[in-house]
Formats: sequence, C-alpha cells, structure tokens
Amino acid sequence: MSHNHQDALWRGFPKALPEFEAKFSTEDACRAYLAQCRWNGEPHCKRCASAKVWCERDGTLYECATCGHQTSLTSGTLFHGTRKPLKLWFRAIWEVVVHRTGISAADLQRILGLGSYETAWTWLHRIRRAMVCEDREKLKGCVQIDEAFVGGKGREKEMVLVLSEEYGRVRLIHMPGNHEACIGDVVKKEIAADASTKSDGHAAYNTVTLDKREHQAKVQSKAELREGDHLQQCHWSVSRLKRWLLGTHNGAVRAKHLQSYLDEDAFRYNRRNTKGVGRLVARCLQNMLSQDPLTMRQLIDDTGECRLFAEVSY
Ligand SMILES: [Zn+2]
Repeated sequence: MSHNHQDALWRGFPKALPEFEAKFSTEDACRAYLAQCRWNGEPHCKRCASAKVWCERDGTLYECATCGHQTSLTSGTLFHGTRKPLKLWFRAIWEVVVHRTGISAADLQRILGLGSYETAWTWLHRIRRAMVCEDREKLKGCVQIDEAFVGGKGREKEMVLVLSEEYGRVRLIHMPGNHEACIGDVVKKEIAADASTKSDGHAAYNTVTLDKREHQAKVQSKAELREGDHLQQCHWSVSRLKRWLLGTHNGAVRAKHLQSYLDEDAFRYNRRNTKGVGRLVARCLQNMLSQDPLTMRQLIDDTGECRLFAEVSY
C-alpha cells in the first residue's frame, strides 16, 4: 500500500466516537472502508490477479470474471469466518484502542452486548494480533536491556526481556528461559548494530550476546537506584506492565498468550504521542486485514492447561 493512500485513509478518519459511529453506522459503510484498505478501492483476484472482479450479494462476495474465483472481503484476514456485523467489530476495535489501559473480555462483552464471553475473549485476541507492529524498525541510540519475571508465587515464572530506547520505543519479549543464545538472537533482531546498550551487569549480557555493541554494565545499590536509575526506562515499562496485567486482567494471563499481551502493551506505549485515537483505530483496522486468521483452536491450549499469573516481579 502506498504512503499516500495510507495517509488518505488516516486523514479522513473520525476523531471521536459520535463521528465514528455516524460514519460506520451501516454494513455498507464498513465494507466500503475495508475494501479501500484491502485493495485500494480496486479489488483484484487473488488466484489470477485479474482486476475484472465483480461484487455480488450486497458487497459480501467478490467473483473474478476471468477465472470465476470467489472470495469475500474478510476471508483470509483476522475477520475470517465472523458472522457478526462489521459495525460491531469496528466498535470493538474502537473500545480496545481508546482505553489507555486496555479492556478485559468481560468489559468488551458488556459494552457490545455480546451473547458469549468466549466471543469477546476471541475478539480481543484477534484485535491484539492486529496491534503487532509489522514494520518494526530496530531500536536505535542507547538501548536499556533488563529482564523481568512474570508469574505467581510457587509457580514457574516466565521471563520477559525488556528493551527500551531512552525516551523512545520499547520491545517486550517473552523468553523461553534465561539462555544466552536467546538473548543474542533477540539483540540481533531488535537492536541496530550501531546502537549502544546498558544493563545491570548480568553475565548473560556480554560481548557475544550483545555482538560487540557498546555496553555500560552497572550493578546498582538501592541508594543508587533512588538517585538516578541506570535502567529507569526498563523499570517504568515493567511497572506499567505489572499494573496492566493485574488491573485490567486480574493477573489472569496464560503463558501461551503472554506475548500477545506484551505486544498490546508495547503498541500502546510506542504510540503514546500519536495524536488522536482515530489514527490508532485506523491502523488496527488495516492490520486486521493484513494479518492471517486466528482461530479458536489456535487460541486454546492443547492440554487445556490454565496457568494464571498472580503477580509480576523483577
Ligand atoms: Zn481470477
């Protein structure tokens, strides 16, 4: 999608809820907007790339005049298979994005009047998937690195690697364990080669894992922490994450889904200076179409195991 087209979709986007509800009050209006996002208003066939595609059945089905291939506006996207009105989805995305600390499945169910909790829970997961930054540019400048542990007393804890530019963007990554190899992979993938790093001096942060990036290691006493925290941005991020998991989600997050909660938290934080909720909603709607479907089966643990996190520590 061209930048001009993207800008056009954002510029005219409603900035407040009454305007948003008025603009997307009908299924036609929602479909027209999604068609603009998905195909730049010019649908083409996925199978043969022909642009001779006719819209059938009130805009829900598209048929290729060249090869006969049929597709719907939402198939193969995060809306895949939904039988609920699109305007309800639009409203759901607005609600999830507008709340600065997110929203629980129970709240979403209540606000939208959804019949089942499972539907609200599944929608939240799909919307969260649409909050993953796709065009992730590597972290630059001075990057603080720290680890946090998420998990309740007496339970196995999950490690989260926190990477933060000073006064910039953050990445939160669920790690399979405190293994140097994993840290090395994450550093290579997420931090620019010419960036410098800061850590608490843990042995896992070394010339191999940091791949020769400049490194200030500092073990801090409590008194030093009070005077000027060497890893302040990381510590703020962990506090925020802790408040969010405990507050909005009552600490009830499964290990399997932890990364998607981390992505939602980072999405909000990294766009904290974006003017207007409308832009974030527009970005989410666009991502709903560009990401692959996420099914109930993919979301539920194979084992049926439920691991609840009661606290976050670091
Ligand atoms: Zn075709």
